[in-house]
Amino acid sequence: MQLYDLHTHTNMSDARFPIEDLVSVEQEQGHILGVSDHLFCCGIYTLNDVKNYLEVLQQFPVYRGAEVNMEHKLNIPDNLDDQLDYIIASVHSMPDGRGGFVPLNAYFSKRSGHTDHYEKNYSSDMNRYYLAYIIQLMEKMFSTQRVDILGHATVLPAYDELHGTAFLTQWEDAVIGLCKKHDVALEISGLWRAPGADMIRRAYQAGLKFSMGSDCHNALQIGNLAYVEQMIEEVGLQQEDFFVPKRELYRD
Ligand SMILES: [Zn+2]
Ligand SMILES: [Zn+2]
Repeated sequence: MQLYDLHTHTNMSDARFPIEDLVSVEQEQGHILGVSDHLFCCGIYTLNDVKNYLEVLQQFPVYRGAEVNMEHKLNIPDNLDDQLDYIIASVHSMPDGRGGFVPLNAYFSKRSGHTDHYEKNYSSDMNRYYLAYIIQLMEKMFSTQRVDILGHATVLPAYDELHGTAFLTQWEDAVIGLCKKHDVALEISGLWRAPGADMIRRAYQAGLKFSMGSDCHNALQIGNLAYVEQMIEEVGLQQEDFFVPKRELYRD
């Protein structure tokens, strides 16, 4: 199986290493690489920044991707959009359904082992509301914008706390249904070791495409697709079950 790492960051957004390091490590690992820095945050704020970012990527044998926040409205003009091989949409906060958002930076830092300290900033009583509104966000985003990949869909504190409930299984099925309807690939994440095998199996049965990604932010995380390989083995995924960008990638 050819491994693709399509969810990666560099110091053009919030990772700590330059693109040169990313490219050389992934090449050594034998991965096909796509770079997907955050757009409209963390260093790439304006359309001119996006243009510069794409110009840098053009100098390397990589797919040109981007990760966008589902909470923000995304407006990329056609001339830049045409140069993007794929767009990953992910949720980085929990909408409370009343116009507010609970930021998840602290949760992500703790869960990725970046910090030990974590102060809970949401109400567990609201868990089902958060997840329900995230379904609405996904539906709105998928039906109004270009999205190729749904990033780290289940990496949410409300999701963790509802583990094992029938509600959560239904929620996962709703996510699978939206991906299917809008032809969006479900990401299997190396960093977050998510989604779980059960959801991946149901997504597979529903005929979804998957995407591989390390979501690396520090050098040690580059190209870590161990969890993806484990899921390929466990669920019996084949090469054709994975999303591949359309453009022919020239590699020497
Ligand atoms: Zn993300
Ligand atoms: Zn990311």
